Amino acid sequence: MRRAMAAHLQPFTTTIFNEMSVLAARTGSINLGQGFPDTDGPPEVAEAAIAAIRAGHNQYPPGAGLPALRQAIAEHQRRWYGLDHDPDTEVVVTMGATEAIAAAMLGLCEPGDEVVTLEPYYDSYAATIAMAGAQRRVVTLRAPDFALDPDALAAAVGPKTRLVLLNSPHNPTGRVLSAGELDAVARVCLEHDLLAVTDEVYEHLVYDGRHIPLATLPGMAERTVTISSHGKTFSFTGWKVGWACGPADLIAAVRTAKQYLSYSGATPFQHAATVALALPASYYDELAAGLAQRRDLLCQGLRDAGLDTFTPQGTYFAVTDAASVGAADGVEFCFALPERVGVVAVPMSVFYDDPDAGRTLVRFAFCKRPEILAEAAARLKGLRPT
Ligand code: PMP
Ligand code: GLN
Repeated sequence: MRRAMAAHLQPFTTTIFNEMSVLAARTGSINLGQGFPDTDGPPEVAEAAIAAIRAGHNQYPPGAGLPALRQAIAEHQRRWYGLDHDPDTEVVVTMGATEAIAAAMLGLCEPGDEVVTLEPYYDSYAATIAMAGAQRRVVTLRAPDFALDPDALAAAVGPKTRLVLLNSPHNPTGRVLSAGELDAVARVCLEHDLLAVTDEVYEHLVYDGRHIPLATLPGMAERTVTISSHGKTFSFTGWKVGWACGPADLIAAVRTAKQYLSYSGATPFQHAATVALALPASYYDELAAGLAQRRDLLCQGLRDAGLDTFTPQGTYFAVTDAASVGAADGVEFCFALPERVGVVAVPMSVFYDDPDAGRTLVRFAFCKRPEILAEAAARLKGLRPT
């Protein structure tokens, strides 16, 4: 028989996000599955993209990204975190954070290297680690607090470990790693001479505590690639403008892989992202304040429906334990939910190597209009036994 898909990709044929959005559309349900806002970001940013198209900025941008955008990203890192990056050599613009993650895995890992990451993990981590021929080793974050156990982290590191792929604020748990937890990661990296790749796409969506980039810890700037995205911070997830910052040799590796993935793209959106990054602090404050209110609205609604809910410190996701409404399996629960109450959510067991660790956990997104969240909450009350 003809061999079609490469074996290492076979576990990754569908993404749960797409599957759940298709289910939401098919059943006409409220989609609290895939994480995308149901309203657009700032109008002046949208206008900047339109103006860029009208001004004829429609051909390939430079492979590393528009110089003005790289400058704006470097400025963002300085303004928020005091990190200094040379926009020419230490910043690369990518097609969303997704491409930055893939390019980091492909550019930094050799076949056989090991990558330590947290589980539950964002699904592209497992796929891109596999594409690079590397192996993942996971450290499990467990309910109710989803804390990072430093001993488990140390135990996951071995002679083949090349890097730690970290995500904070963390999707799907909503955890924001504390200074102490980040310190444990830094210690492991320094002790074993590991690189770090950090996915900080939710850096501005923090409600309790504060976001600390791993690169700001002593000794980490020279070994860390920091990844983020315009999509989450400015509510234009479909534009796919992301970036990676770090020391020149690591960014050269990411850029080299990236140039053979997409080469470059999204020219008008890169112009608009440059405008977005220069918005005043009040924009960022209002974004977080608005989402904090919606977090509270959804969490209250979930609790009123009888679902045990873990209040997230960051991101726009809230995790519940569907066992509290009698479910034995989150996947079955989520596939039945549209029929039962007209709401879509994401089962978390698919983000674990050991599905039992998250068997009954279910993620709900709250980046939706308050009236939609209120309607979802009203519908979810139908889960309560009558
Ligand atoms: N990392 C995490 C943790 C995410 O949740 C997402 C989803 N948006 C991404 C990366 C991908 O970001 P982008 O849409 O910019 O590719
Ligand atoms: N990051 C978004 C989420 O976690 C979705 C992105 C995607 O569909 N790949 O829901």
